[in-house]
Amino acid sequence: MRYAKLLGKSLREAPKEAEIASHKLLARGGFVDQLMAGSWTLLPLGWRVVSKINDIIREELDKTGAQEMLMPLMHPKEVWNRTGRWDDPGVKEIMYQFKDKRGREFGLSFTHEEIVMDLLGKHTSSYKDYPVKVYHFSTKFRNEPRPRGGVLRTREFMMKDLYSAHVSEGDMYDYYWQVKDAYLRSFRRMDLDAKVVEASGGVFTENYTHEFQVLSPAGEDIIYYCSSCGFAQNKEVFKGKKGGACPACKKGKIKEGSAIEVGNIFPLGQKYAKSMGVTFADQDGKKKYPWFASYGIGPARVMATIVELHHDKRGILWPREVTPFDVHLVSLAGGEEAAEKLYDTMEHSGLEVLFDDRDETAGVKLKDADLIGIPVRVVVSKKSLEEGGVEVSSRKDKRSEVVPVEKLAGKIKKIYKEG
Ligand code: ATP
Ligand code: MG
Repeated sequence: MRYAKLLGKSLREAPKEAEIASHKLLARGGFVDQLMAGSWTLLPLGWRVVSKINDIIREELDKTGAQEMLMPLMHPKEVWNRTGRWDDPGVKEIMYQFKDKRGREFGLSFTHEEIVMDLLGKHTSSYKDYPVKVYHFSTKFRNEPRPRGGVLRTREFMMKDLYSAHVSEGDMYDYYWQVKDAYLRSFRRMDLDAKVVEASGGVFTENYTHEFQVLSPAGEDIIYYCSSCGFAQNKEVFKGKKGGACPACKKGKIKEGSAIEVGNIFPLGQKYAKSMGVTFADQDGKKKYPWFASYGIGPARVMATIVELHHDKRGILWPREVTPFDVHLVSLAGGEEAAEKLYDTMEHSGLEVLFDDRDETAGVKLKDADLIGIPVRVVVSKKSLEEGGVEVSSRKDKRSEVVPVEKLAGKIKKIYKEG
């Protein structure tokens, strides 16, 4: 990709209202653009990052046997009436509900339990049809009272939501813990250290649910976690208890920290099936209600969280699995022709290259490269050519080295391997 042609160039100034690093850096770097409060375009750079995040999640979920599909975003009132949630005050707060010209009532999706339950009613009948594990990546609309932090909390956002249905509570929980592991693997691949935090179910369920929280001063949530074991609870669940020693392992101390919720899983049980009258015939022919669970991740919030955790004062430091491009190629005075050739060769070899061939000063181009944060930078200039090749550096530690073009591929691999 030629940087000159990319929609969404770097900006000198961050938006005035931006308070946190990810908001500033993603806006300045040309990853996102605000349409109105709580509503953002993922520009080509941002969409590349979010697509890589989605690919990781997809890969890890597919390993659990989940199937991808796509559900509608505009829902008839009737389907929401079947659980009674259309008129639930908590739901009314966040769901956009409206009438069309003929007076029919619709809602915009803020979650999809009712829709999946409706599908189960139509497409399953026997225990042999279970378990069902389906997910989609699609837009959610929520009338958030306070959108904030750039893409951290918006009124329209992408969510990966997975739903599973099972013939027994045991089967449901077996799969629930498998998804927990798949989420942890996904976040680890994005260099995010997520804690699994016990939480209450809110409008969804009365059981404990589990949030995936990443410690960060930019977070809106407060969590309590053990310094030595995996014990962690959110504020609502932990309240009333005293700090101090960990109630689980008795060894560690309880710490308090702000955190960003990047994912959430809900063991919903039979409530939805019962209220919507969805059953299956068990082995002995008896009618039973399936056990249901749902699981969400917000990939754009994840992108912002990655930036919160991986940046320095010059810009972003993308982890290698989510970087928008593998290499940032920069041509400087006297290196233009060689850079063009190299761009061609690298693209043909399958590398994803962002090529800055603009007519700008070295200072501007190198600053932009730091801001955008691609892990490997390759500079071709008169000077580097005289020294026998191209200058390769790692965004992380700034070590740079001139290497002959034949050795470039090996050098890039090495930087990626060292992480
Ligand atoms: P929060 O507590 O932050 O309001 P939630 O608990 O309502 O979020 P869920 O319904 O569990 O969110 O949604 C699943 C995931 O979707 C969240 O873990 C988060 O990553 C993402 N998400 C939720 N709300 C938003 C939002 N307004 N903007 C961006 N991403 C969001
Ligand atoms: Mg949540």
